[in-house]
Amino acid sequence: HEAHKIPTRIRFYESSISSGTTERLLLENDLHDALVNQELFLEYQPQLDLQSGQIRSVEALVRWQHPKKGWISPGVFIPIAEESGLIIPIGQWVLETACKQVKGWEAAGLPPIKVAVNLSLGQLFQQNLVEMIHNVLEKTQLDPQYLQLEITESMTINIDHMTTILHQLKVLGVTIAVDDFGTGYSSLSYLKDFPIDCLKIDRSFVQKIQSDSTDKALVDMILSMAKHLRLKVVAEGIEEIDQLSYLVASKCDTVQGFLFSKPIPPNILQENYQMLHKDAKSILDSITAFE
Ligand code: C2E
Ligand code: MG
Ligand code: MG
Ligand code: MG
Repeated sequence: HEAHKIPTRIRFYESSISSGTTERLLLENDLHDALVNQELFLEYQPQLDLQSGQIRSVEALVRWQHPKKGWISPGVFIPIAEESGLIIPIGQWVLETACKQVKGWEAAGLPPIKVAVNLSLGQLFQQNLVEMIHNVLEKTQLDPQYLQLEITESMTINIDHMTTILHQLKVLGVTIAVDDFGTGYSSLSYLKDFPIDCLKIDRSFVQKIQSDSTDKALVDMILSMAKHLRLKVVAEGIEEIDQLSYLVASKCDTVQGFLFSKPIPPNILQENYQMLHKDAKSILDSITAFE
């Protein structure tokens, strides 16, 4: 009767996605060993404070150097880590490594730098997330004001749970940013409940500030809303001087993008710290020269 039809449907389904699935399973398998084999590392992208012209903060971004396949984008392996549960150990490693690094820069004589660490949805439903973060702060002796946690709007699926967790995190003394703000298809009402400190304007809006009047309007709206809600704003993905000059004129607090620096290894950031500032200053000066 019905039974013989089912395998046909399964076979059809399998044949259309099998290569992708196999590749994914292989990667998941390799990702298991990546932590132990020290194939994961962090890069840090400077964020420029527009008022002071200083690098006061960085975003930590995880990288995977696969022994055979080479560099694999976090856009590929983070979703695999999320679906497999590996995001829990990986997320903890990222957090601890980033906190240690900030202490390392401090020991090397750099001015205080705050690090932003991305959280995944899976981590927010991890039983002991708050305790884990508390322990990492204790262990690394990092002053919590130098840790910012990035969440995304896609995590607002359970407002009550998130509100509880975020308040507990705030008690630790860390700050919270909403990453990729404006792309999450969520209602804005969570802004009333969540103890948020910062909005990160998604680069898709920033990159079209000059060419698309809707994107420009959205950036204006986010900046004005943030001001009323007393939230800081980081604009992501600044690649061009025109984008920067618009954001400077609009009193955006902080910018992050290839115009100033790509994500770089921690020692490179340390060695080039003065140079990064010199470059940033000449870029900022070139804007004022236009006015
Ligand atoms: P994100 O958190 O929004 O990070 C910003 C991404 O934009 C980074 O990509 C960064 O390299 C890129 N970017 C920065 N400035 C520019 C620019 O001017 N132009 C362009 N085209 N891109 C720019 P990346 O490193 O590939 O990371 C992609 C995403 O992977 C991140 O987006 C984040 O969602 C996720 N991710 C990265 N590291 C971690 C991590 O440690 N934990 C978790 N949970 N997710 C992570
Ligand atoms: Mg981020
Ligand atoms: Mg982002
Ligand atoms: Mg993102």
